[in-house]
Amino acid sequence: MPPKKPTPPPPAREATAPPPAGHPPGQGHAAIPTDVHILWINAGLSCDGDSVSVTAATLPSIEDVVLQGIPGLPKVHMHNPVLATEVGEEFLAPFRAAARGELGAPYVLVVEGSIPNEKVKAEGYWAGWGEDADTRQPILTCDWIDQLAPGAVAAIAIGTCAAYGGIHAMAGNPTGCMGLADYLGWEWRSAAGLPVINVPGCPVQPDNFMETVTYLLYQVAGMAPMIPLDSMLRPTWLFGKTVHEGCDRAGYYEQSDFASEYGSPKCLVRLGCWGPVVNCNVPKRGWMDGVGGCPNVGGICMACTMPGFPDKFMPFMDEPPGSSVSVAMGKPYGRIIRTLRGITNAGVNRETKWRHTGDRLTTGYQETVPISN
Ligand code: SF4
Ligand code: SF4
Repeated sequence: MPPKKPTPPPPAREATAPPPAGHPPGQGHAAIPTDVHILWINAGLSCDGDSVSVTAATLPSIEDVVLQGIPGLPKVHMHNPVLATEVGEEFLAPFRAAARGELGAPYVLVVEGSIPNEKVKAEGYWAGWGEDADTRQPILTCDWIDQLAPGAVAAIAIGTCAAYGGIHAMAGNPTGCMGLADYLGWEWRSAAGLPVINVPGCPVQPDNFMETVTYLLYQVAGMAPMIPLDSMLRPTWLFGKTVHEGCDRAGYYEQSDFASEYGSPKCLVRLGCWGPVVNCNVPKRGWMDGVGGCPNVGGICMACTMPGFPDKFMPFMDEPPGSSVSVAMGKPYGRIIRTLRGITNAGVNRETKWRHTGDRLTTGYQETVPISN
């Protein structure tokens, strides 16, 4: 049974003032940081899948970032409980220091997992992290966020749970959980003037996250403009296109050639793929080091990056309602186009007729006659 009265972390003093993010270099702001901390709380409602996923990043890898393999970045101190070698109080020390305003360097707050509503129950708690030294009670996850968010130069919600609530927030859940922007407010701004940055995915595509972190580190260092985000606070260059627009199977869709069972190379829309209306770059980018990418490798897109996930896309294996209309409209066109392309394909699969061993040149070549004066 969970303890009854969890206590909040020690009160925060004013956080170390970060430099203005996005400030161009050489225009006079006081301090471009040499060190930046990444304080990564994975104590929302989650499976830790985003922490695990990011270990597969290659563009850039975690190692590239923390070992200063990328020119121009400040020195990065990554504090993630899945990746750390420290445990217990030694691991928590930078979090406690940041909550007191004594970390001594700017920090990026990364939140993994959805944030429960601790007000919707009479006793106990939904999620906590670390222990209050005086009361020996857990410190609530949302209290950590309350303490750390105001001083962060940027706050990133990693994965769909932290971004929009995800699976834990689906209909019928008892926790009332939500995404980071729901919790802090969609108008919330970090100490450097940034809104919450959402990098959704269940789990997050590893390079999408590391690329976003790298962008923000350059921004903190004054070497990049304000990160471009869409209305759902996603980096636009990562989430501006649909799955369908990058899918290896899109050619089949275009000529209305649909799979009726798994194992087929054809378009999966009739098996439940939501790719045409889902913002995600995974089919283009692949999953690990360019390999994989849901529909590319045989799985339907179940829309795991989307704010409406999962409720708006269930039951997962049913054909999406809108697709039956586009499939029906495309059928006659697809039949004609496939037939015509089949004929053309057979034609261009034959060699031209003048490649033979006979004694006549049949290429149509005409010898040029020299012009005489
Ligand atoms: S499998 Fe999905 S994403 Fe790919 S072409 Fe078909 S509908 Fe589009
Ligand atoms: S392709 Fe679809 S299921 Fe796969 S990661 Fe993207 S949104 Fe999620």
